[in-house]
Amino acid sequence: MPRDYGQCKLCLNEGKLLRSHLIPRAYYKFLRTPCAPDPNPITAGAEVTRTSQDQLVQHLLCEACEDLLNKHGERWVLLNNYRLDGPSPMYRALLAATGDSKFRSGTVYSSLAIPGIDIEKLIYFGASIIWRASVADWSMGGKPVRLVQLGKPYEEEFRQYLHGEAAFPRNAAIWVAVVRSEAPAPLINFPVDEIKGKYHQHHFDVFGLSYFLYVGGSLPEEVTRHCAARTPERYMFFTDIGGIIDRKAAQFFNKSVPTPKLMDRARKDGVVLVLNCVNTYLY
Ligand SMILES: [Zn+2]
Repeated sequence: MPRDYGQCKLCLNEGKLLRSHLIPRAYYKFLRTPCAPDPNPITAGAEVTRTSQDQLVQHLLCEACEDLLNKHGERWVLLNNYRLDGPSPMYRALLAATGDSKFRSGTVYSSLAIPGIDIEKLIYFGASIIWRASVADWSMGGKPVRLVQLGKPYEEEFRQYLHGEAAFPRNAAIWVAVVRSEAPAPLINFPVDEIKGKYHQHHFDVFGLSYFLYVGGSLPEEVTRHCAARTPERYMFFTDIGGIIDRKAAQFFNKSVPTPKLMDRARKDGVVLVLNCVNTYLY
């Protein structure tokens, strides 16, 4: 059977499958430095830090389902998120808005009150990346990359949500954060998960967006009160977490290469990061 034929993970039909990227392919062009001797982005993993053009990609979805993911999340996010020439439309929209006064930190916003923010598309995009990370074994440069595992019941619930068969899963919560910076770190932090007592936390960052997805039968109130899908206000964060991401990256790079030089290049030219465990404080 040809490699590009199989069961689509989203609609479950058998047929021709496209090569699906875990992180939209369009983002990788921001990570290249055409004038550098090696234009490829820096990839950091647990063992090695190097430049590489490897991407997480595999035959996963049929054309109709790729299109669905694109239409319901990716296209809008790519249009409104990170760009090389100045602040993103999303950043500008949040900058012109005011945080919800119920939260003293000033970092929690009702997305419904902000023209220019499509919270459904933001939620869908974040959920689709974590679901994709979970439903297949991924590898990069021939080496397996361990990403997140939602577990079979949640994989199925998210499949139904993403395929338009069901609403956002009841025992899940999602936090959406836009980094409060005109020029957020150009990095991708692939999905990682962490067990937090009775529930699981899944997290990734991509170019000025940061996501946390929680699943569990009894999610605590401190998790659900900021959920973009469950709260009537459809809350999201607009917060300065750039420093935290930079510090995490610096700690990481310390393991293998001189930090200041690489961090300088990383900031200017783009970097792909795989961090094992990230706790980012959003509020
Ligand atoms: Zn399909």
